[in-house]
Amino acid sequence: MTVVAHLIHGELVAATGRTADVYNPSTGEVSKQVALADRATLQQAIDSAKSAFPAWRNTPPAKRAQVMYRFKQLLEQHEATISQLISEEHGKTLEDAAGELKRGIENVEFACGAPELLKGEYSRNVGPNIDAWSDLQPIGVVAGITPFNFPAMVPLWMYPLAIVCGNCFILKPSERDPSSTLYIAQLLLEAGLPKGVLNVVHGDKEAVDALIEAPEVKALSFVGSTPIAEYIYSEGTKRGKRVQALGGAKNHAVLMPDADLDNAVSALMGAAYGSCGERCMAISVAVCVGDQVADALVEKLVPQIQGLKIGAGTSCGLDMGPLVTGAAKERVTGYIDAGVAQGASLVVDGRDLVVAGNENGFFVGGTLFDRVTPEMSIYTDEIFGPVLCIVRVGSLEAAMQLINDHEYGNGTCIFTRDGESARLFCDEIEVGMVGVNVPLPVPVSYHSFGGWKRSLFGDLHAYGPDGVRFYTRKKAITQRWPQRASHEAAQFAFPSNG
Ligand code: NAD
Repeated sequence: MTVVAHLIHGELVAATGRTADVYNPSTGEVSKQVALADRATLQQAIDSAKSAFPAWRNTPPAKRAQVMYRFKQLLEQHEATISQLISEEHGKTLEDAAGELKRGIENVEFACGAPELLKGEYSRNVGPNIDAWSDLQPIGVVAGITPFNFPAMVPLWMYPLAIVCGNCFILKPSERDPSSTLYIAQLLLEAGLPKGVLNVVHGDKEAVDALIEAPEVKALSFVGSTPIAEYIYSEGTKRGKRVQALGGAKNHAVLMPDADLDNAVSALMGAAYGSCGERCMAISVAVCVGDQVADALVEKLVPQIQGLKIGAGTSCGLDMGPLVTGAAKERVTGYIDAGVAQGASLVVDGRDLVVAGNENGFFVGGTLFDRVTPEMSIYTDEIFGPVLCIVRVGSLEAAMQLINDHEYGNGTCIFTRDGESARLFCDEIEVGMVGVNVPLPVPVSYHSFGGWKRSLFGDLHAYGPDGVRFYTRKKAITQRWPQRASHEAAQFAFPSNG
């Protein structure tokens, strides 16, 4: 059976010890194994990155950007292969896989602007014959740890920008669907990236702990579940590292009585059930302002949920594939059981879905709960599956209070035709990314991505302008060239222009 290898110093490095199973979620079968790095393997990657850093940090940003231009072309040329690899191991549909790749390519395009992004600031004559400027310098060896749900896009949020900023990068992808991530990294080498500037090391907690503990690794970017984000943030910052750790979510959509309901229903279908609900920006709660909106929403949603086209992700023309693993399926069906036990009204039940020809796949059908209340675990927890919960409230203020009281604050949106309600919502909602009639407000690559509250630990958001700040250190330089033959006496008062 194929064992997915590490990529260290430009070479594929076979597993030397432990491995993990990689599944085809559509069939339920183990399709590959993936190497799980031990500390010695990880150290090889660190040594490689360290050795590549001096030359790479001094490579002109324009030359670094040229590698990214070639990388973008290769990503576009190989879209079909990459989408197939994503779909085979993640289970998402081919169209959805191509969509995530395209959003990832946007981040490569942003990184192509390195010469402009890395321009510092300059002030002439800040004092007599004194000029000052600030410089954005790379940090050194930095690492990224990424989740299973976007094996192409989330790594592309990180390393193109880190690398054009002059850093060397170690990527620890999700061990559940590593093949597309590795394939994409190989394309970057093909684009001309010098050996050691990007290394890919597969693994689990052992590899992550080794990255946290290695003194050579100066910064960590993490995207994944909140408990692990908190762990990495606290262990990394304790060791003086710069850490950005993006966590889980529970994203609410508010439906106002004046919303264009048909469009809101279409938007909700995609946002709740696309990618089988395995998106950190998935809408998992619809907050209906008034019973009339809720009743109308249920009536319109039910036939659409029952009509979802579900099957093997690698087939064309589907709405939804399976969940990523058997454990994910158990977890999601466990939450549906709990919702029923806790008294929510189960309107559409996806637990017994069987896909003909793929009976052992990890499928769960679209599920809808109505009359969900805030103390139920289907409301409090991130389910990460195709489950939409309807909560009924009496006013916009009550809807906003509900959202603001939730521990997560990744994304949210409001469906309304009323500018005043939309403006109030944008102003006062305690969530990092907000949509107005836009269900998945994932910022484009030249803005930055990040949640609030327990959806992000760290000061800066991911990619875009915040990404440049995260992957660089600012240096302020003050320079004076005194006029020849002038001599100045020592000054003991603090220097000023006063
Ligand atoms: P996960 O937390 O299980 O895994 C993420 C990464 O952490 C993987 O590389 C994994 O190998 C590693 N890891 C797992 N257990 C670890 C441990 N005990 N110690 C150290 N490292 C460990 O997350 P996942 O299931 O792969 O992804 C889904 C989660 O990611 C969801 O909670 C989702 O909301 C979140 N997510 C958030 C964003 C965001 O931008 N906020 C984006 C995508 C996914």
